[in-house]
Amino acid sequence: MTAAPPVSAPDDAEARRAVAPVICYPVESLSPPDLALYAAARNGAAKVAETTVPPRHARAFRVPAGQFFRITCAQGPQVGDLNLFHAPHLSERFYSGKTRALHGTHLSTGDRLWSGFPNLRPMATIVADTLDWYGCDAFGGRVHDVIGTRCDPYTHHLLSGQDYHHCCHSNLTRALVRETGLPAPEAETMVHDVLNVFMCTGFTADTGQYFMKATPARAGDYLEFFAEIDLLGVLSACPGGDCGSEHSSDTAICHPLLVEVFAPATDALTSWSPPTPNGYDRSHGL
Ligand SMILES: [Zn+2]
Repeated sequence: MTAAPPVSAPDDAEARRAVAPVICYPVESLSPPDLALYAAARNGAAKVAETTVPPRHARAFRVPAGQFFRITCAQGPQVGDLNLFHAPHLSERFYSGKTRALHGTHLSTGDRLWSGFPNLRPMATIVADTLDWYGCDAFGGRVHDVIGTRCDPYTHHLLSGQDYHHCCHSNLTRALVRETGLPAPEAETMVHDVLNVFMCTGFTADTGQYFMKATPARAGDYLEFFAEIDLLGVLSACPGGDCGSEHSSDTAICHPLLVEVFAPATDALTSWSPPTPNGYDRSHGL
């Protein structure tokens, strides 16, 4: 096979590179979440459930619309891979790609987790993040990403030839089977790209490769959400632990994650209603 000839830059290369970018999806037209309303409701909320996710496993949890859920690094730095489903209709799932297109590569307070087509509506809104202070580090790393997919045994097998059964993809599959009773092959197809809770990631400046580094989260750090619709959540405590070295193995130190659900007082959200499915008529020009 002959190598492709080198491509020389055109005379106006710098002028082409100097063209200013435009934001693909300006979100100014979206009505912003009423964080003050959510905060007031959260103030009077009472804890109604909790689930501990053991290291290298996943657990399911349910959050009715109008309630809150908090994911906490219970004992030490730990990355979590989060899937969200509309509880009554599991075909409506979190769409990390469109969430990324709307809010950016990493999420924080005020950002929403959107469902896929044809619903494309907020499933949850982030209402608190103890890592809000982190921002962007010198490597371009940020926290809580929607760019990684989830660690999975197929990519691991592709790159190493080894089989490993506690990748987040498999953990999420097992937990979904246990929660729904669905056959494993069907449940596996419902597992989707995640919000990488607490994960610190970015792209390298020179090669543009996806990188991870040890999460800045410590015991007690949390990310909290408001459920905009009835949710079935599934959370995996990634085998990468703090994701500072490697994942898809039993090497890294891992910690459990805690999920707590809080219900506000019944009269706290009278001015709020769940978002309706997207208004597009689905005729597609036919
Ligand atoms: Zn993982």
